[in-house]
Amino acid sequence: LKMVYSFIEGNAKMKALLGGKGANLAEMTRTGLPVPPGFTITTDACHAFFKAGNRISEDLQQQIQLGLKQLEREKGQIFGDPSHPLLVSVRSGSITSMPGMMDTILNLGLNDETVKGLVALTNNDRFAYDCYRRLIQMFGSVVMGIEAFNFERLLIRLKKNLGVGQDQEVTADGWRQLIAEYKLCVKAYSGVDFPQNVYDQLKLAVEAVFKSWHNHRAQVYRKINRIPDEQGTAVNVQSMVFGNMGDDCGTGVVFTRNPSSGENALFGEYLINAQGEDVVAGVRTPQTIETLNDKLPEIYDQLERVCKQLEQHYKDMQDIEFTVENGKLYVLQTRNGKRNAQAALKMAVDLVLEGVISREDALQRIEVSHLDQLLHRGIDESAVTDVLAVGLPASPGAAIGVVAFDADTAEEWHKSGKQVILVRSETTPEDIHGVLAAEGVLTSRGGMTSHAAVVARGMGKPCVCGCEGVRIDLQARRMFAGERIIEEGDWITLDGVSGRVIRGAVPLKEATVTNELLQILQWADQTRKLRVYANADNPEDAEIARGFGAEGIGLCRTEHMFFAPSRLAVMQRMIMADSLEERKAALDQLLPMQQFDFEGIFRAMDGLPVTIRLLDPPLHEFLPNANELQQKLQSTDSEEEKAQLQQMIRKVNALHESNPMLGQRGCRLGIVYPEIYDMQIEAIFKAASVCMDEGVAVHPEIMIPLVGDASELRILRELVDDVAEQVLSADKNGENKYKVGTMIEVPRAALTARQIAAHADFFSFGTNDLTQMTFGYSRDDAEGKFLSHYLDKKLLPHNPFQVLDSEGVGQLIELAVTAGRALKPTLKTGICGEHGGDKDSIAFCHQTGLDYVSCSPYRIPMARIAAAQAAI
Ligand code: PEP
Ligand code: MG
Repeated sequence: LKMVYSFIEGNAKMKALLGGKGANLAEMTRTGLPVPPGFTITTDACHAFFKAGNRISEDLQQQIQLGLKQLEREKGQIFGDPSHPLLVSVRSGSITSMPGMMDTILNLGLNDETVKGLVALTNNDRFAYDCYRRLIQMFGSVVMGIEAFNFERLLIRLKKNLGVGQDQEVTADGWRQLIAEYKLCVKAYSGVDFPQNVYDQLKLAVEAVFKSWHNHRAQVYRKINRIPDEQGTAVNVQSMVFGNMGDDCGTGVVFTRNPSSGENALFGEYLINAQGEDVVAGVRTPQTIETLNDKLPEIYDQLERVCKQLEQHYKDMQDIEFTVENGKLYVLQTRNGKRNAQAALKMAVDLVLEGVISREDALQRIEVSHLDQLLHRGIDESAVTDVLAVGLPASPGAAIGVVAFDADTAEEWHKSGKQVILVRSETTPEDIHGVLAAEGVLTSRGGMTSHAAVVARGMGKPCVCGCEGVRIDLQARRMFAGERIIEEGDWITLDGVSGRVIRGAVPLKEATVTNELLQILQWADQTRKLRVYANADNPEDAEIARGFGAEGIGLCRTEHMFFAPSRLAVMQRMIMADSLEERKAALDQLLPMQQFDFEGIFRAMDGLPVTIRLLDPPLHEFLPNANELQQKLQSTDSEEEKAQLQQMIRKVNALHESNPMLGQRGCRLGIVYPEIYDMQIEAIFKAASVCMDEGVAVHPEIMIPLVGDASELRILRELVDDVAEQVLSADKNGENKYKVGTMIEVPRAALTARQIAAHADFFSFGTNDLTQMTFGYSRDDAEGKFLSHYLDKKLLPHNPFQVLDSEGVGQLIELAVTAGRALKPTLKTGICGEHGGDKDSIAFCHQTGLDYVSCSPYRIPMARIAAAQAAI
């Protein structure tokens, strides 16, 4: 098995075998760029090394010798030769870039004899001994495991004794003295001498780099970035070039475009007369790359050409390490450069306009999760000092405000002109006015699909939820984050992208919808197959959604229309009613309110479909909780109020269910209390009628929630058709004037989709409930209780409430789509759970052939791009 490849043998496609760095070094060598020659030891060799109990086989050893021989011929130098010594670096190079996580050793091949050869060759003893002491220091810490500070301490003492501040001021004699001390240090801490045999040096260095795959920081980095532990690393052995031989030498890093603005101009830093780690270690302040044009103009010109060439070759912005040795430029490494969201968009659009990449390439390159940074306000990172806790990043954007612990306080303070952050252990529909008044919401309990998360996302407000690092003491009106105390009224900042809760008011940066984003979105629209709808519950959100490019409303949760305080009271009256008459009287009051909202939504969505879901949540959600009522009861003296409270408590108790999410909700409500759905349907058709008279093109699609059996949909569809018959005049009630469909969110509905399709014009997958019921995980509690442990232990690849579980829940969706369409080929299908705004879930929807995805208004640009990416 071939385990050693010279740089002239490989190419960019061999990443899996040669690692990213090795493959790119080979590619650059192949295209004639000035790369110091060398060879790569493969990832296969790494696997064999681990398998053999961290031992280098005879075979590999021989192949390394042969690689070295070839390198000696290319360079005209010999490894370990006192007159013409070859020096090499040994660097890790994994398949996926893991910057700085593994080990590197420079200047291998120096010993007491060869260092003299280097002095003679370069006529520079200061330089040669500096290289040698660096080798002992690096080798000692990386290979022999001696703590780096043992060497640092000796260096500091030396400089103090010599009375100098900078490393460059140390003389050759000084370095020689330090080398003697370093050798003693190695012996003292490891029990053996620093190896004078250069082949031993090389072998030990290669072993150390392989082993560094398993060091702690590399393991952590892989976990965070989801890089498989099995990959292993390649090792690159490369001949050294020196940036520290004098003033016509230097080393630096350059980006071919500006990684924070995207501007097409070189961006980088360098140091004259220095070696790579000096730039990284920050011992000297590097200079900006433009000044290289004054210092070494020819090198600068050449560097510019190399940058152009590499960018054209890789068709992307490059991050390049270079060294200048005695006026000659060498490229040590190139890789696709990291960039921020705005720069990424600009570069992608520019590269298309420059003819370097296609529109499809540009779309593929957009990291949709980064769009959150652009479409919402963000925080000024440099001003973050005190992170109190980190919760779930439930709704993106950043917000500052003073802490308010209940909705009424939040509303009151907002009215008096304050910015507030609503902080609750969890929110309920009762808190909605507080959410509305707040800049952002923080909860200590509840997951990504909790009430607070869903509502905040819908409103485009930043939200951090399930933040168990804060404990709220409602009585004392304060919260605790570890030892720290935040009083009600204190300023905090929320970052809904990272989930951080920060003490104080951190300055915010405004969102920017740039021309580049608009361009990318236009290309996305020309590419995608999926339509993108919005989840929107009121005219304002509908308008925002349309502004972001929504092609319809996929979910209007009508219960949200009842949460405004004035309406909630009527709703509660309706629920409390003892007789049908009483209930109807309350419903009569609710009807015009709901009709008014529907009219606004229809106008905003003129010409586009509007999917309206009839009432879904269990009724107890509209009532205060029993404990609060009991407290109020205790504290009131008014007999009348007492009686009212007692009645409400009786009702709350009567509505109590052990498993409300599996209880009296969804279509079950509509079947038990048909007058409620009756009122809602009437409001929809009256609104439609008014709007049609105004010339608005109305396309209502009435959606029945939580259906589990075809009979439920059958009788509710009859109800819709009856009301339409009564409310709509003949000219407005023709064929295809409205649609009736169902949510598929109970597993049984998916399993019996064929029967259900008989009564449905469309299926909309409610994947929040479908996930909850398929897994049997409570969507409100699972995250805080056991799901995070499952994810830590890798029992599940993702949180299934965020990323659609294509294996299980997805199977139900596929089954239902196939069965439904078999009966009714024109059946319209879509998804309206929170997954509709998730990139991987959108890809699944595209593959499954759904017609649309529906997500909160602010996620629409992201969904348009994700849908295009899925279609490429
Ligand atoms: C769902 O269950 O996925 C859904 C969209 O409905 P809700 O979140 O309102 O239960
Ligand atoms: Mg649901």
